Amino acid sequence: MVTDKEIAELIFPEVKETIEDLEKRYPQRNLSSFQEVTRFAPSPTGFLHTGSLFTSLICHKVAKDSNGIFYVRLEDTDTKREIEGSGAELLNQLKLFGIEPSEGYLGDHEIGNYGPYIQSNRADIYKVVIKHLLEQGKAYPCFCSSQALDEIRAKQEKAKIIPGYYGPFAKCRYLTNEEKKERIINGEPYVIRFKSSGNHLRKIKVHDLVHGDFEIAQNDMDIVILKSDGLPTYHFAHACDDHFMRTTTVIRGEEWIASLPIHIELFETLGWKAPNYAHLPVIMKLDESGHKRKLSKRLDSEAAVSYFLKDGYPSEALIMYLMTIANSNFEEWIFEHKFEHMEEFNFSFNKMSLEGALFDMGKLNFFSKEILSKKSKEEMLDMVLTYSKTYDQKLYDLVSSNPDYFKEIINIEREKENPRKDYEKLGGLYDLISFFYKDLYDQKLKEQPLEYNPKFSKDDIKEVLKALKDKLDTSLDEQGWFNNMKEIGISLGYASSGKDYKANPEAYKGSVSDIAEMLRITLTGKKNSPNLYYVMKVLKTDEWKRRIDLVLNS
Ligand code: GLU
Repeated sequence: MVTDKEIAELIFPEVKETIEDLEKRYPQRNLSSFQEVTRFAPSPTGFLHTGSLFTSLICHKVAKDSNGIFYVRLEDTDTKREIEGSGAELLNQLKLFGIEPSEGYLGDHEIGNYGPYIQSNRADIYKVVIKHLLEQGKAYPCFCSSQALDEIRAKQEKAKIIPGYYGPFAKCRYLTNEEKKERIINGEPYVIRFKSSGNHLRKIKVHDLVHGDFEIAQNDMDIVILKSDGLPTYHFAHACDDHFMRTTTVIRGEEWIASLPIHIELFETLGWKAPNYAHLPVIMKLDESGHKRKLSKRLDSEAAVSYFLKDGYPSEALIMYLMTIANSNFEEWIFEHKFEHMEEFNFSFNKMSLEGALFDMGKLNFFSKEILSKKSKEEMLDMVLTYSKTYDQKLYDLVSSNPDYFKEIINIEREKENPRKDYEKLGGLYDLISFFYKDLYDQKLKEQPLEYNPKFSKDDIKEVLKALKDKLDTSLDEQGWFNNMKEIGISLGYASSGKDYKANPEAYKGSVSDIAEMLRITLTGKKNSPNLYYVMKVLKTDEWKRRIDLVLNS
């Protein structure tokens, strides 16, 4: 009679190690029970998804807050979906957001005693465990072709029963060892399946750090654990890796809750303690018809982290925003802490909403403005140069041609208690600041004439501009300058305040704000700009007078 052990030996003659050997090679970590070991386990299938950034942020935070370990494992067993180089790129992007693992796969090298951290390099480890399961009769080779599987599925669909490879439908679990041996020796292709002992009519109780306690049907599927290419499936690799890498809490997307019964059965069968689980809510979006749906890689540009990098959002803004999704009390906390030191916030799984959070661009923009307004002019220069070098060559050339001038521009109303929030992101900055540059201003003027309030005639405008050119004194302080402008306005028949004008519109041509607007449009080409007084200071007298002359002579 052929034994299970002989089958295991026939399949893996080269595997000499045992599970005990692996337990020794990967000993328990020398940590206290409070210290968490978490991992981010991306698949190298493309760009960093905003949802994955969210997951990695929480993994990192939980490890950091507990003085534990955060590591990265590259899950590259799905070779068909792999995109060359995307693993290293994911790590680069995480770094931009301050998420740096202290162990694991780091893009171009690995650190740590629990590796290899790339799954495709762990085939020998998986084989040891699978050989053990085969020996115990808890796994078996399955020779069903994809056509045979399709036929089973079609039968199940017709009979309206749960589809899958389980119970009576799991044909190969009923093969005798003699039959298995013969087919293996004959060279028939096969995969290895796990022999489930579950029953989906029974429920198991599970605890999730986000979702609390709940019941879920047992697994009864004989899932594939080793594919014909010699690599494991996600489910099996998850159990093996998180066991031998000594992960304490598995933090991953909610889409994995449905597979939890499989994972729990695998851990139980192997006699291993399952890690804690935290399944994070998915990030949603309101679609055109007002329905909530998952952020989609295909449909939504904001699903890719690269979108925010390209648009020049400071990385802290996105992290701060994602923290508001993570914990309901974070927003109040960060307001109290003046948008600073968010690393001091105490994260808690209990305060995570169970419903998927709606991605709120408005809130992200708000945080972004706050953060940009708090940077020093030197920090802004550095950020803009770094950003524009990759994403905006025109901006890079402009700023690097005269860094000191850029600092003057960006410093308008910056170094003060309540800095002005003129800038939301670095994308589009070129258009916002180009008027400060003489050549760009002149070029724009050629392409697009200035648009004043049509309520005023050309002569009215010229009269005001001429008086401002002759009499406005920018060497005064801001208040003095404004009073000066008011006096000039009053002398030409304009009210000194909007209130006076509204009370008696017939008596005036307009108010001082109309005058300021004429001047602003003349100097900047726009109705909105940073503080006009400082704009004039940065432009300097010759230049702002020259711009007025261009209008007077037109
Ligand atoms: N590789 C899996 C994914 O990218 C990881 C899930 C997990 O964290 O366990 O979805």
